[in-house]
Amino acid sequence: MAGVIRRLDETVVNRIAAGEVIQRPANAVKEMIENCLDAKSTNIQVTAKDGGLKLLQIQDNGTGVRREDMEIVCERFTTSKLQTFEDLSAIATYGFRGEALASISHVAHVTITTKTADAKCAYRANYSDGKLKGPPKPCAGNQGTQIIVEDLFYNVSTRRKALKSPSDEYSRIVEVVSRYAIHNSGKSFSVKKQGETVADVRTLPNASVVDNIRGVFGNAVSRELIEVGCEDLKLAYKMKGYISNANYSVKKCMLILFINHRLVESSALKKAIETVYAAYLPKNSHPFLYLSLEIAPQNVDVNVHPTKHEVHFLHEDSVIESVQKHIESKLLGSNSSRTYFTQTLLPGLSVSGGSEVKSSSTTAEAGERVYAHQMVRTDCRAQKLDAFLLPKEKPPPDPEPAGPSSSSSSREATSRTIDMDETDDADMLQALDEQEAEVPKNDKEGSVSAHDAQRKRPRTEQQQEKQEEDQMVAATSKRRVIKLNSIKELRTEITENTHKGLQEMLQNHSFVGCVNPQWTLIQHHTKLYLLNTSKLSQELFYQVLIYDFGNFGVLKLSTPAPLYDLAMLALESEESGWTEDDGPKEGLAQYIVDFLKNKSEMLEDYFSMEIDQEGNLIGLPLLLDKYTPVMEGLPMFILRLATEVNWDNEKECFRDFSKECSAFYSIRKQYILEAEPGEEQDAELNSWRWKVEHVIFKAFRSLFSPQKRLSEDGTVLQIANLPDLYKVFERC
Ligand code: ADP
Ligand code: MG
Repeated sequence: MAGVIRRLDETVVNRIAAGEVIQRPANAVKEMIENCLDAKSTNIQVTAKDGGLKLLQIQDNGTGVRREDMEIVCERFTTSKLQTFEDLSAIATYGFRGEALASISHVAHVTITTKTADAKCAYRANYSDGKLKGPPKPCAGNQGTQIIVEDLFYNVSTRRKALKSPSDEYSRIVEVVSRYAIHNSGKSFSVKKQGETVADVRTLPNASVVDNIRGVFGNAVSRELIEVGCEDLKLAYKMKGYISNANYSVKKCMLILFINHRLVESSALKKAIETVYAAYLPKNSHPFLYLSLEIAPQNVDVNVHPTKHEVHFLHEDSVIESVQKHIESKLLGSNSSRTYFTQTLLPGLSVSGGSEVKSSSTTAEAGERVYAHQMVRTDCRAQKLDAFLLPKEKPPPDPEPAGPSSSSSSREATSRTIDMDETDDADMLQALDEQEAEVPKNDKEGSVSAHDAQRKRPRTEQQQEKQEEDQMVAATSKRRVIKLNSIKELRTEITENTHKGLQEMLQNHSFVGCVNPQWTLIQHHTKLYLLNTSKLSQELFYQVLIYDFGNFGVLKLSTPAPLYDLAMLALESEESGWTEDDGPKEGLAQYIVDFLKNKSEMLEDYFSMEIDQEGNLIGLPLLLDKYTPVMEGLPMFILRLATEVNWDNEKECFRDFSKECSAFYSIRKQYILEAEPGEEQDAELNSWRWKVEHVIFKAFRSLFSPQKRLSEDGTVLQIANLPDLYKVFERC
């Protein structure tokens, strides 16, 4: 039924923001499409000539305008949709201001042809400056309304000149029509240039939203869409739409946003969404989103200037945050097919890591039935990724490194066990300290903790063997006890921040293979994880440094390395960030040598870092047996010891030193450089692979207290879940 048009009460008129300005053809199209939709049209056809400047024609099949209302439709503030100011807050239709047609008729020649359902014929009328030019004439026509706008801005030459090319205006019209078409799936839209038979965009009445997105934006995006939808009663909003997944990106963020069915913009929402995607998309690439928000009408200020597309609403920040969270969760959940690198989920545990962890022998909760498809390979000696990559895997290379040589290769440096699952490590250490007598320093080489054996739980067969070895060594030597509060505090920090779930995962993982020096695949229960070996190994070495403090073996360098040369090398590298303002490199290098020589006694005593009288580095700490750091990192390590370590505070100093040292020892990209082309490349390549698997990941099984932050920063990524993979393969 056609609405009845009345004059708005004068006060209402004045309270409504007046002076609507149609700035360009696309604004007029938007207003007129909204009128069509208000009139319950299901078919809307837009035709334009010269970018809409010469002609705009909008044809719909809606309710039409009653003959008696035709006189005032183009008068300012006449509307069939609102009568009192209070109605504004509960408005459900687009138009409410009664301004659009009036404004258009002031800057163009408007012709309306319209027929309501119960009228015998259609009527046509012409308008200028908001006034009917003559009585409506009866004519033939179908139900609905056709509005023709000719010579837009014929009387406003400045505006006409300000507009860009007709083709630019036309693409803006197409943009508006397409977006309303996507939002109004189930209704058909078309837009074309006058005289053309083929529409530039056409949607069908039975098409879905995704069909329409495909029609407008193409296949590339439409097949990478995730459906989203959420609702929050407290914030009084609903949201639904489609968002592109992490497989898809465009140069510019495309956010098609409707709020209460009105096409709007919200830079705040856009920004919030972009930050979510930044974690999943490559740099400088952006997502596609179509979102429809419905907000309680009383919370949205609809009474804004129509050319201001930017909207604001009540509880905006909370609503945006809620939408943002929902989008993030949908993105995370979308990886079961092709999207990798998107999850940081941990094995069935919350990030807090406070919950209990079942022992590895039970793959399922007691009483829970294990189905065949849930059973997983758990023997780490079973087939690994290498078997598929390198048909003839060479035996591990001689772990004795070419450069520095281990002064005590028989020493079981790895025998130290950080007790990770007993309740209070700090207490334990204290108890140990009290029991043990101070051991002379020269005993430290080849020593292991007498308590390792006691503190260790039996785990695998291999570990048990190791335990026996430990006990034998332990019987003959003692570990030096460190009574420094600073070190005790640093140890407590580690134990207190242990992520139990991650620890359990690393203790009981199956090694799958190295992707590259930086990334390693492991399996745990039914899940496949990608681990950042660099970050994890750095954390491992940091912990070794803090726990074995004062008890390291020594890696003797085969030839002493002058600290001066090392410092110069570092200063010459770009990474040092040296600039002329820092003074001559030679002077700085000499300063570094003198500085470290000064500290040499302490460095040797606590960290087994040996520097001789001439300022040569002759030994480095042996942190894990059969492991030597990549020497490319040595110059930067030396430089950073002088610049990044706070030597004035005991605790800070030990922490900073251990941080720098562990960065130097960590598995890093440089390992790739290790392989000189031609020269025994395979053996060299295998050497880092071997180290990762047999030293680093072996240590993760027993020595490591992964920190909670590692569960949140992308160090651990779940990339597949076995049951999901079965589903994928079943389809093949
Ligand atoms: P508003 O939409 O704010 O009411 P407009 O100036 O956009 O104001 O339109 C004025 C009136 O003209 C509307 O209230 C409506 O009654 C009538 N009208 C405009 N376009 C159509 C249409 N396509 N079908 C039916 N009625 C229409
Ligand atoms: Mg309107």
